[in-house]
Amino acid sequence: MKKIALTILTALPAFLLTFIFMSRGQVPQNGIKLAAFATGFIFFNSMFFMMLYTGKTDRYRSAVYITTAVFFVISFISHMFEARGSMSFTDDTLFNCEIPFCHIVTTMALIPYAFTKTIIFPGSLLEGYAAIGSMIVIWLLACFTIGRGWCGWGCFFGGLDEGFSKILKKPVIKEISPKWKYAPFLVLLFVAVTSAYFLQPTYCSWLCPFKTVTEYEPITDTASLVKTIIFLSIFIALVIIFPLMTKKRTQCSFFCPFGAMQSATNYISPFAIKIDAAKCVNCKLCIKSCPTLSISESNLKSGAAGITCVRCGKCVDVCPKGAAAYHIKGVGDNFDGASRVLALYAFFLFMAIFLGGDFIGGVERLLKFITTGSFI
Ligand code: SF4
Ligand code: SF4
Repeated sequence: MKKIALTILTALPAFLLTFIFMSRGQVPQNGIKLAAFATGFIFFNSMFFMMLYTGKTDRYRSAVYITTAVFFVISFISHMFEARGSMSFTDDTLFNCEIPFCHIVTTMALIPYAFTKTIIFPGSLLEGYAAIGSMIVIWLLACFTIGRGWCGWGCFFGGLDEGFSKILKKPVIKEISPKWKYAPFLVLLFVAVTSAYFLQPTYCSWLCPFKTVTEYEPITDTASLVKTIIFLSIFIALVIIFPLMTKKRTQCSFFCPFGAMQSATNYISPFAIKIDAAKCVNCKLCIKSCPTLSISESNLKSGAAGITCVRCGKCVDVCPKGAAAYHIKGVGDNFDGASRVLALYAFFLFMAIFLGGDFIGGVERLLKFITTGSFI
């Protein structure tokens, strides 16, 4: 009883803050909107409560992360049908800046903007669904707080390959060369250089697997046919088949250029995963279970997870000796408990602010479908 009361007390500020952020200062009055908001608020906060109460992180983070990705897709597609009547876009859509902005665009937009002051992505700058202005502010906030925790707690796509990676109990492919985790850095280099050269978002135009579940160019010529084949192939391979077979997040870890870029922000984020060599018994459970190949033997020796770590907490949960732990840089080992709570606060609040709307939007569409037979 005392533990429950203490956990509620610890979680109380998060309950209040998420209430403000998720309701955007105004609790909906309408029946379906109110039910969707209540579902989102209760689900997010009960998962946070369980993280604090049980001391386990990944299981509850993952539940929110995966369901949000599914609801994001439902909400996004419904929105596209509502706004345009289909998932496809036309030249007019591009010209009128009616393409929602996605964080992966930053990997292609920064260099052209720095040199030519041209924003190559034609999405709406200040208003509309996922406007560039608000997305850039949120991304900068994440860089200085949760770092690549974005890819474990904030990305509305990441839950898709994570979901498939959780389906089988044991991996079919057991050994993966850790060198694969450097592949996204090559993709990043390629898309940054080609986008700067052609002044086009080349990843969006030619490579993004998530076009499959969001919006796409209609097939009208050879180029659009080739693009569609590429989007579909990468989606099926890296978001479905390889996560199933390896139990790793293969799209995020072996392909995503945004993940590669965001890795660098782990240097400025105050949070980290440390490994206490004095407690570690070298069982390698953390190495086997890390979904992003971010722990190796050399990390066990150096005392910290690798730069590609998404702060998911899986290694912390599986470590039998409590050697892997959330850590605030510069804070002593005696404060590990408080460091974990503060780290979880930062990650969870970011998740609630950034993904809460997608979750609620998806639930709302689903309830609409159940009650009216239509998502829009
Ligand atoms: S090192 Fe740990 S926290 Fe980081 S991605 Fe791997 S399992 Fe998750
Ligand atoms: S799971 Fe824990 S004890 Fe085992 S190798 Fe990793 S840090 Fe060491």
